[in-house]
Amino acid sequence: MYYLSREDFISLLRSLEKSYNVYAPVKKNNQRFYKKFAGDYSDILVGEVRPFEPLKAFFSPGRESVAEGFKPDVRLGEDKPSCVVGVKACDLKGFKVQDYVFLNHDYEDPFYSGRRKANLIISSDCTCAIDTCFCLALGVKPYPQEDFDINLSPVEGGFVVELGSSKGREVFNQHSHLFRKADEDSICVREEQRKRIIKEVDENIKDNNIPLQDELEGVVEEEGETDIWEDEVKTCVECGACNTICPTCHCFLLYDEKDEDKMQRLRIWDSCLVKDFARVAGGANPRPKLWMRLRNRFVKKFNFFPRVADIYACTGCGRCILACPAKIDIREVLRRLVDKKRIKE
Ligand code: SF4
Ligand code: SF4
Repeated sequence: MYYLSREDFISLLRSLEKSYNVYAPVKKNNQRFYKKFAGDYSDILVGEVRPFEPLKAFFSPGRESVAEGFKPDVRLGEDKPSCVVGVKACDLKGFKVQDYVFLNHDYEDPFYSGRRKANLIISSDCTCAIDTCFCLALGVKPYPQEDFDINLSPVEGGFVVELGSSKGREVFNQHSHLFRKADEDSICVREEQRKRIIKEVDENIKDNNIPLQDELEGVVEEEGETDIWEDEVKTCVECGACNTICPTCHCFLLYDEKDEDKMQRLRIWDSCLVKDFARVAGGANPRPKLWMRLRNRFVKKFNFFPRVADIYACTGCGRCILACPAKIDIREVLRRLVDKKRIKE
């Protein structure tokens, strides 16, 4: 492990600007957002908790052109790859689902795959938890363990640095003069901090009586009918915020548009809560009722993905809890489902 002072970290980012567009979180009104940085890093925030936007936005943007006319080439919309700084473990876990969808054995999506290869991820440990964090319930630690290139653990005056990939090692080799070997004290501070955050998230889980992933097995049945869905969905306005904000949701739709003098095919994020999501030609809809669509969202996350990919498609980031205008709380829905299953047994 290495140590990087805050000043040297800024020098590293300034150097990376030559090859990457650098994005990192800043804090505004108690929320953290990604901002594109260049030169001035005075308001950069590394640490705290996940930013408002999910990491997927850097790999499959909410709206992008995927074809122009009949040209066979694949062009990414951005001029340079992205270096995303301050990524948290709950977003990195989202790769397990996104990779399963976009890099599967049947088809490799060239846009997603191009960005997976080109983008650089400089992740960081969480240094606090907010009320909605429940990553540990889904088996995600509040510090990155995989799928990063370089990880930063904030300590006094700088960061303890861990390299997680050959890409990260290459960046390190090119800037080795900025790093030094981490001393025992810094590593101890990192471990203590990690234990403290685990305790904070654990308290969140206990205080809110959130079920742990082992208790979720079999609680969401594909065709299961329960009054829970109808009851929970009463306030849903089909805005789709729960889908767009989620680091694991990945559904999209394609449409064609005339842009000035050319035709292009666009891909935009879709939402399974919206009535027309599953409608087919002829007008038939397998999920005409809103409660069926809410159930479908939970089926995909807690039944389908564990079956096909051995993972829950929820990372406990808590974004959907804050984004939902209807105050539908995934933790509460899961708790009700677990309680219902216990009663049945
Ligand atoms: S379902 Fe909600 S808590 Fe789970 S990963 Fe998606 S946004 Fe985060
Ligand atoms: S965010 Fe809430 S209101 Fe909007 S679609 Fe999702 S569940 Fe419905």
